[in-house]
Amino acid sequence: MKQFQKTGSLLLPYRFTRGCPFECIFCISSTQRLSHALLPDEIVSHLESLQGEHHPTGFFFLNDTINISKKYIMDLCDKIIARKLKILWSDCARVDHLDQETLFKMREAGCIRLIYGMETASPRLLKYINKKIELKDLENVLRWTDEAGIWSGVEVIGGFPHEKQEDIEATISFLKENEKYINRIYLNHFDLRGNSVLYNSPERYGIKRIFRVDECTEKDFSSYVEYGFDEADGLVWKDKVKQIEFSIQAIRESCCRGHRFFTDEHLLFFLYSHFDHKDDVKSVYLKILKNHE
Ligand code: SF4
Repeated sequence: MKQFQKTGSLLLPYRFTRGCPFECIFCISSTQRLSHALLPDEIVSHLESLQGEHHPTGFFFLNDTINISKKYIMDLCDKIIARKLKILWSDCARVDHLDQETLFKMREAGCIRLIYGMETASPRLLKYINKKIELKDLENVLRWTDEAGIWSGVEVIGGFPHEKQEDIEATISFLKENEKYINRIYLNHFDLRGNSVLYNSPERYGIKRIFRVDECTEKDFSSYVEYGFDEADGLVWKDKVKQIEFSIQAIRESCCRGHRFFTDEHLLFFLYSHFDHKDDVKSVYLKILKNHE
């Protein structure tokens, strides 16, 4: 930690796709089709010149999802490797276009961390939010990610409309069963986003009376809430707020101890710049984490 605090780290944000080809109903990207993706050759040229100019510890890619197709991600990795760019990077990914071969190639090309959007492990809610992922596939991908030596994060959202106790329990069970392969859980409260599919077609998804809230409520939520709503034939907003908070608490207490408030991106890049193997990174990281608890 002394060395880390002394030298610090520099992460450069970089985005090379705009929009997303998927349509998860809660996400603002769900109404913005994939509109642009730089060609792998262009990306590698940008990375090379940024690396030469700034010598960053790593690149913090900001794409909605890096693997828009297997061919795209494989081409990009092949070009990074062929150009002998010694870079480290992280991004968000979907499990659909990922297999063992791709993940090992990504690690070879400098990938140190991937964050997967699971959101919920309730099959009923996965269908409701149009996530289009299979939990079995996610389990495989998490295991392969670990085998490839890549740090893994999983996004979880508590309090989806019409979420029930059994949905929360399904999420908790999945996270516990796959704990070994999940390095960090990113736990978020459900937040109705303007211009998402859900916001644009509320009656189709069983919500009504959408109204502006526009506040950061310390009591019920830890972050900004833009819109409130009632569930059709379900909870009115004042009770929904409590349900969202209950859901978050239940997941946090069961699965997220020691995972949540530690801002670890810079440290993670720093450790991967010193150690080639994930086991070494993990062992030092866990020691540091323990000292901070
Ligand atoms: S949650 Fe991820 S995969 Fe789904 S629409 Fe949004 S960016 Fe795309």
